[in-house]
Amino acid sequence: PPTSKVLSVSSLRKAYGGTVAVDGVSFDVGRGEIVGLLGPNGAGKTTTINMVLGVLEPTSGSIHIEDVDLARQRSAALERTNFAAVYSPLPGNLTVAQNLRVFGLIYGVKSLSARIAELLEEFDLVRFRDTRCGVLSSGEQTRVALAKAMLNRPHLLLLDEPTASLDPATARDIRERIRDFASRGTGGVLWTSHNMYEVEDVCHRVLFMSHGKVLLEGDPRTLPGEHGKASLEELFI
Ligand code: ATP
Repeated sequence: PPTSKVLSVSSLRKAYGGTVAVDGVSFDVGRGEIVGLLGPNGAGKTTTINMVLGVLEPTSGSIHIEDVDLARQRSAALERTNFAAVYSPLPGNLTVAQNLRVFGLIYGVKSLSARIAELLEEFDLVRFRDTRCGVLSSGEQTRVALAKAMLNRPHLLLLDEPTASLDPATARDIRERIRDFASRGTGGVLWTSHNMYEVEDVCHRVLFMSHGKVLLEGDPRTLPGEHGKASLEELFI
């Protein structure tokens, strides 16, 4: 049977000369779970995400995506798990449909035209099919980025502040879409954010990073109290 973990990170470390950006980090993301990665600027969140994405090599430690070791079976880990990221901007001179086609070809998506039609429908993008991405609003672009990330039916979705530039109603819509994805139970989500309200609203569990280490881990609604704080925000102080 498939493992209940979509991501397992163990004793992960990244050093740049004398600077240790990530210092012995271990955590899991389960199927159906949305895990928040929090912490002040420079805590090591982006470095952690980039190692999970396979674009940065760890100094030491291991990353397993659905039991496949990223260091040993890189393409198997990235392909078999349908790994996806949302935060790199899409080419603005290509239309929505062209963008989805290009990335679908890169990911080797089967029955690509049908999958694109399905995603345009699901993400309310049908009327923008032939619109260049560069002229879309931030919210529309975020929906295109999510549709792109869903092309290969990922089991692990990495989101780096997906709602940072969005108005409250649009951010709520995006959160609903991520929740839908997780509630299907096939995949898990790792989500970085600076928005405490959002993290409490959407994340099942949070990891609070500081100076390269995970300092706290738990339910975002009860974690601050366990540490004598009234809110997640106070953990930053
Ligand atoms: P933010 O919320 O601002 O994005 P972060 O938690 O994502 O912060 P990282 O970008 O992972 O933090 O950086 C962690 C630490 O590692 C920082 O002190 C940063 O200066 C350092 N660092 C990151 N990349 C490099 C690099 N290529 N060379 C040297 N130091 C680096």
